[in-house]
Amino acid sequence: MRKRIAVYPGSFDPIHHGHLDLVARCRPIFDEVVVAVLGNDEKQPMFSVAERVTMIEEQVGELGFCRVESFSGLLVDYLDRLGATTIIRGLRAVSDFEYEFQMALMNRHLNPRVETVFMMPRQDYSYLSSRLVKEVFRLGGNIEGLVPPPVIAAMAERLAADRVAGGESAGR
Ligand code: ADP
Repeated sequence: MRKRIAVYPGSFDPIHHGHLDLVARCRPIFDEVVVAVLGNDEKQPMFSVAERVTMIEEQVGELGFCRVESFSGLLVDYLDRLGATTIIRGLRAVSDFEYEFQMALMNRHLNPRVETVFMMPRQDYSYLSSRLVKEVFRLGGNIEGLVPPPVIAAMAERLAADRVAGGESAGR
């Protein structure tokens, strides 16, 4: 029987427990989950794509059914290359719906074999986003329990490096 491969695409800048909750929920449904880090993102990321891939691998590497890759270009073309037909996306609140609805229908237009499956995280993670986690952390807020400890450590390091670089350029 053909392997049921799900592709979970996103920026994952950085990965947090909402993302990991969704990966765990895929286990009974799919044979393999590929966490796919978007390479052609235009936003100013905190971590490079390679750094994000490494951080996610540290979190999911031992699960056995999950691997991490980066991709650029059209998501549906990437799915074709993997022999996958399912996209996983998370739905946190109604506010996610409009954009996700457009994306799902556009991807279906581009490749009618592709289905998007929406999953909801555990309620405690439904307010979590990478953007918010970064914002709170930059302001000194506690993000323990929302983001894995090695990711928090990497964020602290990045923030310290950015502050040194910012201080240097401000002093020039
Ligand atoms: P993107 O830039 O594609 O939104 P993200 O890294 O923010 O990338 O999110 C990747 C995927 O994970 C998206 O499908 C998003 O809906 C989902 N996601 C983000 N935060 C959560 C969360 N707290 N719980 C469940 N899914 C989430």
